[in-house]
Amino acid sequence: MNVYLQQLTKKFANVTAVNKLTLHLEDKKLIGLLGPSGCGKSTTLFMLAGLLEPTEGKILFDEKDVTKVETEKRGIGLVFQNYALYPHMTVMENITFPLINLKVKKEEAKKRAMEMAELVQIGDLLKRRPKELSGGQQQRVAIARALVKQPGLLLLDEPLSNLDARLRIETREEIRRIQKEVGITTVFVTHDQEEALSISDKIAVLDKGVLLQYDTPQEVYKNPANEFVAKFLGTPAIVMTEGIVTEGRLVCQGVTLRENIGMENKRVRIGIRPEAFYRKDTGFEVPVQSVEMTGKDLSVYFHLGQERMRAIFFSDERITQGENLKLGIKTDQILLFDMDSGSSLG
Ligand code: ATP
Repeated sequence: MNVYLQQLTKKFANVTAVNKLTLHLEDKKLIGLLGPSGCGKSTTLFMLAGLLEPTEGKILFDEKDVTKVETEKRGIGLVFQNYALYPHMTVMENITFPLINLKVKKEEAKKRAMEMAELVQIGDLLKRRPKELSGGQQQRVAIARALVKQPGLLLLDEPLSNLDARLRIETREEIRRIQKEVGITTVFVTHDQEEALSISDKIAVLDKGVLLQYDTPQEVYKNPANEFVAKFLGTPAIVMTEGIVTEGRLVCQGVTLRENIGMENKRVRIGIRPEAFYRKDTGFEVPVQSVEMTGKDLSVYFHLGQERMRAIFFSDERITQGENLKLGIKTDQILLFDMDSGSSLG
């Protein structure tokens, strides 16, 4: 199912939680709604679910305007961070519950629940109650329950927040697999950029209720629309600094970072991702301030003029504090932003 949000707006008293949001959620795609706390992710999801009425704008499911259709009649599956399973029911009863509610015959409901349980790989846990399951298993049950009615749209609100780091990664891969297997249009709300990058087909980045960028994870990471998106995505974070474009050269702290820039002379904001630096014998020389080992990576800190920078290398590189490092920068990875608006200068 294709879903269209058109100029969708939600105001609460004096807060505009979602501001003229226009988005096309493509059929069978997993769309990550990403942004910091309070950016309007949950409000958007609740409007898609019919749990909140928009102040303005429309929601279309394919050609059908569902803006005023109640939740039960939208044909959606919902999963929240706190599983919300019925504690007194078994796994089987939890999954069949939506069907029994719809007056589907018991045998048929059981058959469909079994299929769902197999899909999310909890077929051997059907007799247990929620408190006898791990967090990850509970979330699988919640997903099976959301899918059992064969909805056209699956809405996931921070579904991994209550899981520990390892289980989060496992479960997000599972969600991806299930989503592709079922082929269901899915919206995944998260404030975790790594999570969004790793499982989404497309990411919508929101800030203060406004859509900043909507594109594939690769594009949002490599070509952020503005400084906010550049800073919000990527660990370790991008380093931001300032420089000038003068006669076709980009100069930062006395070092020429790039030549042949087709841009008028002006001051610019510069973004450099830590992986853009590489060792180069003929490059600029900097003393290494400190080195941090994080498993497969080495984070190396140094100053470029006044500006503290971080470069990232594989941890088998030999780099020590105090040594002089000669570095180059992959010029296609230097991002430029407008001084005033923060918009990408391409
Ligand atoms: P989080 O990640 O913290 O859940 P979010 O991105 O999901 O944040 P929303 O919950 O959608 O953000 O909130 C967006 C804005 O709307 C916030 O400023 C919030 O305080 C405000 N807001 C949300 N719900 C209400 C409400 N019922 N009444 C008043 N203001 C609200």
